[in-house]
Amino acid sequence: DGFEAAGLAEAVLRNVARCGYESPTPVQRYAMPIVMAGRDLMACAQTGSGKTAAFCLPVVSGLVAPAGGGNGHGPRDRGSFDRVAAKPRALVLAPTRELAAQINEEAKKFSFQTGLRVVVAYGGTPMFSQLRDLEKGVDLLVATPGRLVDLVERSRISLEAIKYLVMDEADRMLNMGFEPQIRKIVDMMNMPKKSVRQTMLFSATFPPEIQRLATDFLHNYIFVTV
Ligand code: AMP
Repeated sequence: DGFEAAGLAEAVLRNVARCGYESPTPVQRYAMPIVMAGRDLMACAQTGSGKTAAFCLPVVSGLVAPAGGGNGHGPRDRGSFDRVAAKPRALVLAPTRELAAQINEEAKKFSFQTGLRVVVAYGGTPMFSQLRDLEKGVDLLVATPGRLVDLVERSRISLEAIKYLVMDEADRMLNMGFEPQIRKIVDMMNMPKKSVRQTMLFSATFPPEIQRLATDFLHNYIFVTV
């Protein structure tokens, strides 16, 4: 019952081996098959539990194009005045730039040689280089809530193609006052039509505010605690 048991894509399994991970941690062992089965997930897990890989591995696996297929985006025309909003297929929300940067690093390792593009966007820093990254295309976007709302309002990102939504350290995001931005992001994702989306909520604690988010954002979810 190693990583193979979760049904991850071949390319992702190779990257797991390249990272030197020999066996899954408990949260990975429980969460990965649930995500691979297409179910929504509420996971209570602490930092250090291996939670980042628990959601990154199945999400990257789900984004990997079937053999022979493309990844849905060609190189972008950077000379155009008519900019097209980047349309990520997976979104990971994180409370801080440090955590977003860590998730970005890990997601990049797991996406090695898959053709997938991983981009990170956080606040407190000029937008310029993030915009340049987005213009090259993005499959998996890691973002802090405030910067993401800003980018969507500037039509640099469209959330209409999101298939996977992960909220990491949701309790910390609420403690930092990001609930309005999070709700706005989910609202924007539900318009113009509700897309077929899989949602994963990770939190170290499970107080009433997090239970409410789970009730509002997750459908028929499975609860995992480690
Ligand atoms: P996280 O809880 O996601 O912050 O991960 C904590 C640390 O454990 C990170 O440095 C990961 O690279 C590492 N890690 C995650 N999963 C495994 C695994 N299955 N085997 C060995 N190390 C791991």
